[in-house]
Amino acid sequence: MNYKARIDSVYNGSAVDGKGLRCVVFFTGCNMRCGFCHNPETWTEKGNEIELTELVRKIKRYKNYIQNGGVTLSGGEPFLQAEFCTALVNALHVEGISSIVETNGLIADEDLINACDGIRLDLKNQDGRVDSRVLAFLDKCEELGKDVTLTNVLVPSLNDTPEKLNIVKNIKNKYSCIKELKLLAFRKLCTGKYERLKIPFPYEKYDEGTKKDLDKAYAFLKE
Ligand code: SF4
Repeated sequence: MNYKARIDSVYNGSAVDGKGLRCVVFFTGCNMRCGFCHNPETWTEKGNEIELTELVRKIKRYKNYIQNGGVTLSGGEPFLQAEFCTALVNALHVEGISSIVETNGLIADEDLINACDGIRLDLKNQDGRVDSRVLAFLDKCEELGKDVTLTNVLVPSLNDTPEKLNIVKNIKNKYSCIKELKLLAFRKLCTGKYERLKIPFPYEKYDEGTKKDLDKAYAFLKE
């Protein structure tokens, strides 16, 4: 079966979406609207339709370049197109290419979790609570023994408070499948995207995060 997906773009050369140099596939469609989102252009349900064979062919061109890294399925929310993503990950395995999936953790699709080589789950604690579906997702990763990197976007004065950092800490301590915790500083490089899309940037009012903010938060999490 030749599966089809809706994607925004394929970017080759990322060094920040997992280990090594990576090829990143940005899927379109998202079931969240995070105030700090860097990729609001992927929120659309539409996107560019692409067949599995064409996408695999495209990625294979970068095989040498990504040999110490791999492919990152990102978006948008890749789990909204879980069947295609599972087929993609399996097709890339045949080519000797590993893949991880970036997710908000709202859809715990067992087949995709099983098939991929790792999960990067971005924990959304900015409004002071974590969706119960995210915990169900982590339960599934724990059950299947899938390695998870937990990321969290640190927005100064919003979620660098002890109360919200404790949410991150408690989750990290609860799940042994979480092998790494990465705090990401909030950035406003995406402001131009919001302007072009003519939609308000919800976190415009917050300051960007600094290395000092990150160091302070890491120190708190280690206590
Ligand atoms: S889940 Fe990711 S893509 Fe979706 S709105 Fe949040 S940051 Fe953006």
